[in-house]
Amino acid sequence: MSLFYDLHSHSSASDGRLSPTELVHYARQQGVDVLALTDHDITSGISEAKQAASHLALKVIAGVEISVIWRKQTLHILGLNIDPDNAALLAGLGKIRQARLWRAQEMGRRLAKAGFSDLYAAAHAIANGENVTRTHFARVLIEQGHAKDMKQVFKRFIVPGKPGYVAGEWAEMAQAVEWIKNAGGISVIAHPARYKLSATKMRMMIDEFMQAGGEGIEVISGSHSKNESQQIAALARHYNLLASRGSDFHDPAIPYINMQTLPVLPNDLTPVWAVWQ
Ligand SMILES: [Zn+2]
Ligand SMILES: [Zn+2]
Repeated sequence: MSLFYDLHSHSSASDGRLSPTELVHYARQQGVDVLALTDHDITSGISEAKQAASHLALKVIAGVEISVIWRKQTLHILGLNIDPDNAALLAGLGKIRQARLWRAQEMGRRLAKAGFSDLYAAAHAIANGENVTRTHFARVLIEQGHAKDMKQVFKRFIVPGKPGYVAGEWAEMAQAVEWIKNAGGISVIAHPARYKLSATKMRMMIDEFMQAGGEGIEVISGSHSKNESQQIAALARHYNLLASRGSDFHDPAIPYINMQTLPVLPNDLTPVWAVWQ
């Protein structure tokens, strides 16, 4: 029997709802055999997840999801099977988190100038530690009645040209790939269909990713439609990239991202886990 791999998930160490221990138990209940914990720009949840999994029939893969910039576009690169204590990786992730903190404070300042005071404090209060994201600001603005839902709040306040938008100062893509490689891991382009790149730009991005040493692409993602997964599978075939599969699970209350119903990889592709065996 083949194992059920989910190589993309988030805990409360970044913006997930469940603690690493709760996440591991939840994944096991959903039938996952091998789970990668890939929190945003942080590896602090991994030891707890591994500890919790040691009592279960589930293996935890140490991972991370790094926010990078490629030609002014924010992309996410997964690092899978990394050493979560690698010094250069930790230093790089620390810098990204500092930039995220600065960005959140700057968002607060700009929104205050536009007449919305104390949002940073409110966003900080509902975030885990210092990791305040645009999502946290959005939740506060909705709660205060300034917008009715996530779609509207982003459009009104936190996209380019709006008062709360501050561009992220992330790592360069090639830099993140190098950190992952030096930490013994494999780089995977996360949810590639979500960036809405033209076909030409997508090919340019993959070329540069591979030149930097990147090896994998997330073919099956909780945020891909069936059609999108087929398009990404074709790219994996064309470029001979390792194929990955991950739910991008954050929250049991979000029904459309479901570990259990995640489709399997097309069987002509080489799964990223083949190189671990
Ligand atoms: Zn992502
Ligand atoms: Zn993610």
